[in-house]
Amino acid sequence: MADTPPTAPPPPPAGPPKSAAPPPASAPAPVTNPSTQAAAPAAPAQPAGDHEVFDVTIIGAGPAGLFGAFYAGLREMHVKIVDALDEAGGQLTALYPEKFIYDVPGFPKIQSIDLVKNLLEQTHMWKPAMAMGERVQGMTRNEDGVMTLTTNKGVHYTRAVLICAGVGAFQPKKLPQPELAQYEGKGLYYSVKSKADFRGKNVLVVGGGDSAVDWALNLKDYAKKVTLIHRRDGFRAHDSSVTALKMSPVDVKLFYELKTVGGEGKVQTATIFDNRTNVETVIPVDAVILTLGYSVDLGPIKEWGLEMEGTRYIRVNSKQETSVPGIYAAGDICAEHDIEPMNLIVEGFAQASRAMNFAYQYLNPASKAFPGHSSEKKL
Ligand SMILES: Cc1cc2nc3c(=O)[nH]c(=O)nc-3n(C[C@H](O)[C@H](O)[C@H](O)COP(=O)(O)OP(=O)(O)OC[C@H]3O[C@@H](n4cnc5c(N)ncnc54)[C@H](O)[C@@H]3O)c2cc1C
Repeated sequence: MADTPPTAPPPPPAGPPKSAAPPPASAPAPVTNPSTQAAAPAAPAQPAGDHEVFDVTIIGAGPAGLFGAFYAGLREMHVKIVDALDEAGGQLTALYPEKFIYDVPGFPKIQSIDLVKNLLEQTHMWKPAMAMGERVQGMTRNEDGVMTLTTNKGVHYTRAVLICAGVGAFQPKKLPQPELAQYEGKGLYYSVKSKADFRGKNVLVVGGGDSAVDWALNLKDYAKKVTLIHRRDGFRAHDSSVTALKMSPVDVKLFYELKTVGGEGKVQTATIFDNRTNVETVIPVDAVILTLGYSVDLGPIKEWGLEMEGTRYIRVNSKQETSVPGIYAAGDICAEHDIEPMNLIVEGFAQASRAMNFAYQYLNPASKAFPGHSSEKKL
């Protein structure tokens, strides 16, 4: 299916959210009753390609998308989440699962994986359909206002869309040396999924940003030894982390870069060099963590005809509406005009809940955006 920008401003698809218009060549969408699902356990994954029309489909299962799905359930909307990754949690799961987060209201500190677990539990109250491992590529709008989302695996039908695609599909930046590829997963890492993998090991961390400094500090009590090399003498990390690094047993080598790694079937050595003198040193290592940043690509979403803020953000108004009716955006992907985006979890939560309330109103023009208080509902 071609990726055509949405045309003709749509009337909101007729009817209340759950009176699904007949989907193409299939039975009408079953009506769910959230009040009977309050204690429901984890939702089953929804395979791609089924023809059910959802009230709202969320692109991205990061914190914004997960909380958006919870809010959709609260408003009794039939919701589906689609994510390119196999696991929910977005950046928290992919980039820093074991780090503590200190700025989520109500949690003085919480580990990323636990926040994701809690979000999933909260979201699954409503049994959202989840299509994981599918990257959304195309979007078209039918004459009846129903939108078709095309992924690498199939199609999904929906009346409204909430884009919570974060920084887009992110890929870790890699060094150009071709021989490094053979060591990926065999001692060469681009992120740390479990500190236990590094217990008792000689670890080399490469990089000078927050991730490099944080992982060096996080692993110092697990690893036998942690060495951190950085190509210059200034870190792009929080001052407090840099101070902690300087006081830690981490062996910090400034003006050093990685030339290559060696080993029989797994990483056993790293060749590093002083970029001021080009003098090389071979050090024994069991693991090399490359934290060189990420290349970010919004991908085909950029071609949907949505108004952008620069090339990185989808422009939204104060209702989280994009320039295309029925399509909302929340979290790291969106920016209001002239307001510097914060790119924080708490911002994404607020934006996702607001987006869902206005999406509800879009689907039910006579309704109020204000959802009422959850404490007054019998859930
Ligand atoms: C190391 C690090 C530490 C951080 N620490 C904090 C902190 O302490 N406090 C804080 O508030 N914030 C922190 N952040 C920022 C926080 O993680 C982000 O603000 C948050 O993850 C944004 O959530 P999101 O749901 O908008 O997007 P993301 O978490 O980026 O999730 C987006 C999801 O969308 C999916 N996706 C993208 N494109 C597509 C597509 N085309 N089709 C299908 N799926 C798609 C991705 O696979 C991803 O799962 C940190 C970030 C990093 C990198």
